[in-house]
Parts: sequence; structure tokens; C-alpha cells
Amino acid sequence: MSSPRVRFAPSPTGYLHIGGVRTALFNWLWARQTGGAFVLRIEDTDQERSTPQSVQIILDSLRWLGLTWDEGPEVGGPHGPYTQMQRLATYREFAERLVAQGKAYRCTCTKEALDAQRAAIKARDPKANFRYPGTCRTQKHSVSSPHVVRFVTPAEGSVRYVDKVFGEVVTPNAAQQDFVLVRSDGVPLYNFGAVVDDITMGITLVARGRDHMVNTPPQLLLYEALGETPPEFAHLPMMLAPSGEKLSKRHGAVSVTEYRDQGYAPEAVLNYLARFGWSHGDQEVFSLDELVAAFRWEACGRGDGKFDTKKFLAIEHEHLKSPRLQSDDVYLRRVVPFLELRGLCGLDEAKVKQAIATVRERSRTFVEAAEGMDFYFRGEPVMDEKARVKFLVPANALHLLSLAERLEAMEGWTAEGLESTVTDWLLERKLHIRDVAQPARVALTGRTASPGLFEVMVVLGQSATLARLRSGAKRCA
Ligand code: GLU
Repeated sequence: MSSPRVRFAPSPTGYLHIGGVRTALFNWLWARQTGGAFVLRIEDTDQERSTPQSVQIILDSLRWLGLTWDEGPEVGGPHGPYTQMQRLATYREFAERLVAQGKAYRCTCTKEALDAQRAAIKARDPKANFRYPGTCRTQKHSVSSPHVVRFVTPAEGSVRYVDKVFGEVVTPNAAQQDFVLVRSDGVPLYNFGAVVDDITMGITLVARGRDHMVNTPPQLLLYEALGETPPEFAHLPMMLAPSGEKLSKRHGAVSVTEYRDQGYAPEAVLNYLARFGWSHGDQEVFSLDELVAAFRWEACGRGDGKFDTKKFLAIEHEHLKSPRLQSDDVYLRRVVPFLELRGLCGLDEAKVKQAIATVRERSRTFVEAAEGMDFYFRGEPVMDEKARVKFLVPANALHLLSLAERLEAMEGWTAEGLESTVTDWLLERKLHIRDVAQPARVALTGRTASPGLFEVMVVLGQSATLARLRSGAKRCA
């Protein structure tokens, strides 16, 4: 059997929705697992809503996620162009072939005439569905008169296919009407454009959201009429909001770029989406390689799922904590832009790596990590007012000064050394660590929650530690 060819065919009418990414991901995983090809096709036939900016957002989002395409915009390939509005001649050719064979016909019914027929039917029965009555089926209209091309849908029989996720699906042809293939301006409607492209691009498996299941029977009729073997189909359950509605902007972040900007790791986004409608035992956390190896269409569920931001964040946290899933170098490369957004530019990489080690366990996103490390890289930490008022009080000034003096004399600036020096100092001064820990923490970091005190001191270094303790003491006045 030749290698599978799968595709992702977004319409560039806005941002890249994470539901769309799940579709892209499953196709991509399949292609990578089987050594097949992942094709990206831009379905821009809705000229009013499609924009070049949206195409760019889709390409940027897929690249950020690491879902690289083997053929498509910007990379080319043997079946291009990969943008539908650049393929109008191909659709015309296929439509003319069907017309010549009597499998499609030119229809000159005007919109006004069809609207009037629809209104008359609705007046009789408001629940009735208007279906094109086939007025032009038997008429021969010339190419020069304004027309659409309609498909001759068989009235009898049914379409059957075995969906890789949903199993056998049978739809009676009577449910279809003579649907439009190409509009009067030469632009194809979705079903026709998709089928012509899937044929000419050699697609062997079409995987997409369950909302497209209604389109599969008419598409199969087209394959049959064109004398082509249809691809396999796999429909994926929908991603719903917790309320059960279609997941949209109203329910929080749904575009890939929002997650990128919130400091999510791309592999964590893919991990969460992979688990949406697919399972592998009870494993929740996967590297990308593990997903590629473990993915199976048969293990996709049929039930729609509810988007769970808490679970998403929990998976994200697992990825950020784990050096197996984010190496130190990758972590560094990904957190630096978020430090730069805070105005912390040109930092010493070795020092950032040391700082990362102290915040990694607690940071769920790169935004949180950058926030958590901020105080290391400023002359003075940004002071939380509440913390200052509570802990930098006159009674603590002497403790901070005395601690600074003791630490100044210290040699070998290590966490262990600091711990034993501070323990001795506390004994001598008859103090308890809780008397000094918070004032010292606030002086060093500007906040009441931070990595362990000695870890912080090690990363800050001796002179910054002393300077901050002393300046904290001054603030106690
Ligand atoms: N352009 C369609 C969409 O964005 C693609 C449907 C398909 O994959 O066939 O929903």
C-alpha cells in the first residue's frame, strides 16, 4: 500500500481555533507515524470572509505548534497551487466533464425565483425544507447565459461508508437535493471544491470534525460520478464549552496565538488536544514522539467532549516541570521572550538558567516563570507594598543588618554554606527562622512568596544579597 496522504483544509476567516488544531494534529500524527504526507490547503472560497492576514495567522500558528506540512502554501509541492481561489480552472474542468456526461447541468434559476418558491412552500408549511425541484435538469442552457452548475442527485438508493471512528454510516440519497457545484462566478461550493482537491491532491484519508459528517454523503456521490475511488473518512467528536455549547471566544481563549501569548508550551497544547477525543490507556502526559507512536484512529472516541481549562493548565504544568519534556535549553529559549516583554533584555544566559531552576517546579506557564524570576534581574526588586508594610517594620531592621554582616564574612557562597551559617547566626541571636525569613524574603525578592531563601541568595550572588538586605533594613524605618 502506498503511504497515506492526509490534509488539513482550514478556511482563512479568522484565527486558528484550537478545535481546528485538533483536526490538524490527528492528521499530522497519522502522517508522521506512517511516513505519509501532510498537506495544507487553504479553502478561501468565501471571499467575503477570507483574508490574507488570516492565512498568515494559520501558517504562523501551525509553525509555532510544530505541525509542519509537507506540501502547501510557502513550501509548494507537486499538486499545487494549494489555495482554492488559485484553482478555479481545475474546478471548471471537472464541472464541465460532469455536464458533458449528463451528471450535472447548468441552472439559470434566479435567486429571486428560488426565494419565491421557498417562500410559497414555507407559507404552506413553515417546517418544510425547500429542496430545489430540478427545474433546469431537462433544459439545455448555453455556457454564455449566467448559470450555476448543479449535480444530478440520484433520487433512489443510498450512500454507505465505514467511518474510521463512527463505523458504518448509511444515508438515503433522497435526503440530498440537486446541490450546486459551481456558482455563476466560477467559484466552487465547499463540497465540490473539497472533492476535486482531494482527488487531484491524491488524498487517501479525510479526517475532520463531526460537523462535516453531513457533507460526506454528497461528497461520496461526487466521487462516484467522477469515477474516482473515495478516500477513507474519519470524523472527530466536537469540542464543546463546559456549558455544552459550541466552544467559542465567549468561553475563553480558543485561538492558538492566545495560548502562545499566555506562555504555553506548544507540545503541551498538542498533548491536551490529543487527549481530546483520543485515549491511550490512562496516560495523560505525552511527548510529541510518544503521541506519534501511540496514535490510532480506532482509539478515538465518538462522544463530544467538554473543554476543560483546568486540565489544560495541569498538562501544561507537567510539561513545564519536566526536563524530559522541556530540556533546559528549550526552556531558556522559550522563557527569554517573556522576560524581554518585562523589559529584561540582554540577560546572562547562565544566570537565567540558574534562575529557571528555582522557579521551574512552581511555574505553570512561561509567563508565570518570567514573573517568578523577575526580581533576580533588577537592581532593586519591584516591591509589593502590602509585603513591605507587613514585614519591613522597624523591629526587623537590626535583624536584616546583622544577617548581612554575618553573610558578608562568609566564604564559599553555596546553599549548604548559607544554611549552616544562618542556622549558627540564629542560635547566637536567639532567633527563630520565622522571625527573619519573611523580612529577608521581602528584602531580597520584593514579595512574600518566592523560591527557597538560600536558593534565591545563591542565584543573586553575595554582593546583591548583601545590598538588598541592607536596603531592606533602610526601608524598615
Ligand atoms: N474548510 C473546511 C473547514 O474549515 C474544511 C472541511 C474539510 O476538512 O473537508 O471546516
